[in-house]
Amino acid sequence: MKVWDMYKIAVIPGDGIGKEVMEATLHVLESSNVDFEYSFADAGDEYAEKTGIPLSEETVNLVKQSQACLFGAAGETAADVIVKLRKELDLYVNLRPVKSYPGTKYLFEGLDFVIVRENTEGLYSGLEEYTQDGATATRVITKAASERICKFAFEYAEKTARSKVTAVHKANVLKKTDGVFKDSFYKVAENFSHIETDDRYVDATAMFFITQPQMFDVVVTTNLYGDILSDEGAGLVGGLGLIPSANIGETNGLFEPVHGSAPDIAGKGLANPSAMILSAVLMLEYLDEYDEARRLENALLKVLDEGKVVTKDLGGESSTMEMAEEVRSKLEAL
Ligand code: ATP
Ligand code: MG
Repeated sequence: MKVWDMYKIAVIPGDGIGKEVMEATLHVLESSNVDFEYSFADAGDEYAEKTGIPLSEETVNLVKQSQACLFGAAGETAADVIVKLRKELDLYVNLRPVKSYPGTKYLFEGLDFVIVRENTEGLYSGLEEYTQDGATATRVITKAASERICKFAFEYAEKTARSKVTAVHKANVLKKTDGVFKDSFYKVAENFSHIETDDRYVDATAMFFITQPQMFDVVVTTNLYGDILSDEGAGLVGGLGLIPSANIGETNGLFEPVHGSAPDIAGKGLANPSAMILSAVLMLEYLDEYDEARRLENALLKVLDEGKVVTKDLGGESSTMEMAEEVRSKLEAL
């Protein structure tokens, strides 16, 4: 197991509340048992106003030379910044947990599953063109990318002690493209015989998320389905302030909250730091620091459960940093 003395982490706070939730999260991480060496960089709207570009090559290289990147938020330029990093670093996995934490507005108690989305091809391959009477988009599904994402899903299940992986597709209609994805899934599954497998149609999955979400453990799927199901998953556990994400490649990982820069609440200490803290939990998992990941998650869980020192969106009156301070003291007590 790869456990380092000191991890090199690129930190990009970005715009708006990205700065606040990043400061809060780094404050909490000071009490972690794992040591980090941070390199800070700017990217996003403010950076673009100063320099004319939202993300510099130096920053891309800095992220490449780091083991992981913590990213806050970028405003209008978010797509440019993240898409560029995703491409340059070949971050082919988008991972989104769906967990209902106590004291939050979830629709079902005890939800705990993850969605693993293929993030480089599928219907978002960028192959769209106008035709005489409309337009077409080409959906690219390769065996290599399908096997790679399915392998990631099984390995993630293995590492995080999850017992089932479900492939989501529509192979009854998209027989060729989703056929390749489904076949790749079962081919990879042969190497993980101790993990339960099943596969479901995407439409049925969308319904089961609402009717029986407890049936899911790890869900692996193609780009567009994953995009839609990830947001449906976010809806199940409620509140943008709570949802982290991971973008992972062969040699790098980028961890960011799902929310954006939220200019309406920026600079006021109102931002909930949970999504950014949970992004750091995903980073710890990525670094194979599972014990530390659980400790940090449990510290936050205690604060959410008590519901006393929490931000306004969670029904409290505390500021971003007050909530972070509370998470830090719980972490120190664990
Ligand atoms: P951007 O253009 O950067 O995405 P946005 O205006 O779309 O910014 P989001 O960050 O996507 O804003 O969030 C939408 C709304 O949800 C915000 O306006 C804010 O009120 C709320 N929100 C988002 N994140 C948080 C958070 N961490 N804590 C509290 N409220 C949040
Ligand atoms: Mg937004």
